[in-house]
Amino acid sequence: MPKSKQHDAPAPIADATDETVGFEALGLHETILAAIRDAGYTTPTPIQRDAIPLARRGRDLIGLAQTGTGKTAAFTLPIIDRLIDGPRRTRALILTPTRELCVQVEESFRKYAKHAPIAVVPVFGGVPLDPQEKKLRDGVDVVVATPGRLIDHLERQNVVFDDLEVLVLDEADRMLDMGFAPQINRIVSELPPYRQTLLFSATMPPEVEALARKYLRKPVVVQVGVRSAAASTVTHAVYPVPREKKNALLVELLTGDKEHESVLIFTRTKHGADRVVRDLEKAGVRATAMHADKTQAQRMRALQDFKDGKISVLVATDIAQRGLDISGITHVINYDVPQQAEDYVHRIGRTGRAAKEGDAYTFMAPDEIAMVRTIERVIGQPIPRISVPGYDFGTVAAD
Ligand code: AMP
Repeated sequence: MPKSKQHDAPAPIADATDETVGFEALGLHETILAAIRDAGYTTPTPIQRDAIPLARRGRDLIGLAQTGTGKTAAFTLPIIDRLIDGPRRTRALILTPTRELCVQVEESFRKYAKHAPIAVVPVFGGVPLDPQEKKLRDGVDVVVATPGRLIDHLERQNVVFDDLEVLVLDEADRMLDMGFAPQINRIVSELPPYRQTLLFSATMPPEVEALARKYLRKPVVVQVGVRSAAASTVTHAVYPVPREKKNALLVELLTGDKEHESVLIFTRTKHGADRVVRDLEKAGVRATAMHADKTQAQRMRALQDFKDGKISVLVATDIAQRGLDISGITHVINYDVPQQAEDYVHRIGRTGRAAKEGDAYTFMAPDEIAMVRTIERVIGQPIPRISVPGYDFGTVAAD
């Protein structure tokens, strides 16, 4: 699957992560780059590469990433970058589910801010309050806290968040599993509404989605590591995009990479399929349409040519798909949201190919949101959203 040049999300697909950018390209302060060099890192991990530029631009974001992906640096680095020249006020708060994670995040701040005058205080339960209280009252830039203990300090007025600029909810799924929703609520009620909020979570159950809807503003989803998840060999995602921009987004995605692998595109109508082929060809992408005007034999041949690699982009109508075995295909784009949830499942499911990885992307216009919700109900899970600035109707262009 080709990926977009200006991709705001990770392109959770084979090859996309081969792209190497150095930390220098992320625009971080020189003292941070020095600390990164000291840590021995040469290349940002995918979540760092995708999340850091967005976070530096002030976007709210949802990072779907597990421990081990480098997610901690993905939020600590842009926070340090933001705080580095500012006054000593409590401008960043990181909430973590456990004291262990709290300490790890604090250490991460110390490691990357070692050449910068940034004060960080870890706040967690099970230890005396007083030393934490003293540090908080002395003034800090960053508080890393477990929710319960932070509330103890808030009640004692040991810390105020009037100047807070960035909130991070780390391992949000775990915090909710541990029953921290009321504490998070309470803490967020003490924070300025105009802030940047970054939410990291390994999974995206409806409860985390609800949390994100409540606390984040027009977030961009950055997703990594899905391909390695044992239960999921198919990566799928929804691109919110107005109908009139679907062609441009498609061209952007397909021309953003020199490598044109096989991409099967589904449109609702014959007319739509022809138009997509025309636009792709105009952009220099060779494509073939497959629809009801073709005989079954022609359709099967087109599909075979496609599977054999003779055609790299095949554009088919929903109807043409019926009765065809599409199981050998690795990349699917639903140019229109399928009208039947079963079609969606069929296209992305490809059961029996457990060892194979595939990608299924769905373009969703505003009037197709309800259909996507139905599909999510049928498959029993939310589909991650990928927001591309300039295309997503839910966001303002970030550039
Ligand atoms: P995390 O996913 O944040 O728990 O990080 C996992 C481990 O990867 C930590 O030990 C980090 O020190 C390390 N790490 C983070 N970013 C990089 C990088 N760009 N290159 C090499 N190691 C890294």
